[in-house]
Amino acid sequence: MTHHSKGMDGRQVWQKLITGNMRFVQGLFQGRNLLDLRSTLTKGQEPEAAVLCCSDSRVPAEIIFDQSLGDLFVVRTAGLVLEPTSIGSLEYAVAHLHVPLLVIKGHESCGAVTAAVHHPDTDEGHITAIVKQIAPAAAQARSTGKTGAELVELATCQHLKSVAAALRQESRIISEALEQGRLELVVAKYQLHSGKVDVLKATFM
Ligand SMILES: [Zn+2]
Repeated sequence: MTHHSKGMDGRQVWQKLITGNMRFVQGLFQGRNLLDLRSTLTKGQEPEAAVLCCSDSRVPAEIIFDQSLGDLFVVRTAGLVLEPTSIGSLEYAVAHLHVPLLVIKGHESCGAVTAAVHHPDTDEGHITAIVKQIAPAAAQARSTGKTGAELVELATCQHLKSVAAALRQESRIISEALEQGRLELVVAKYQLHSGKVDVLKATFM
């Protein structure tokens, strides 16, 4: 399986990402020759992981994991909501780019989750579609009796697990790759304060 991400399996790629995140936490970014890299990458891409994360300007996967051009295939939607085109983008990364790792990375203080918690019945253009998709996780979190920021964080964890389950259920390409061991899945949450990415769930743990 050497065509996978420079010989790395999903667990090794995750180790690389976590090592990069530790550099980010400490503010020690890796120096890179982006001009050389840009030129090399004109021949094609071979990203090591697909990442589904929020559109929030504070959470870009490449910076948080201290990765570079060509490393990550990233899909971003507000609140990590799924729709056919975002699922298709992830499927492309799995089926054609052979990424061995799929990361679902949510974050602390997510505005989309906060909206679903506090205004589940909002009717504002297409924003409604985002809130609706997170609303079940928000309702489930609310049933625990938690309030405020604690409620939002619980709803976020619940939503991230639902996104992982929905991806497996709605995408045969992704579920088959997981079953055949060609793909590992990590569900993680980014802490705005520390800059750290915490694992909530991983297929190899
Ligand atoms: Zn967000």
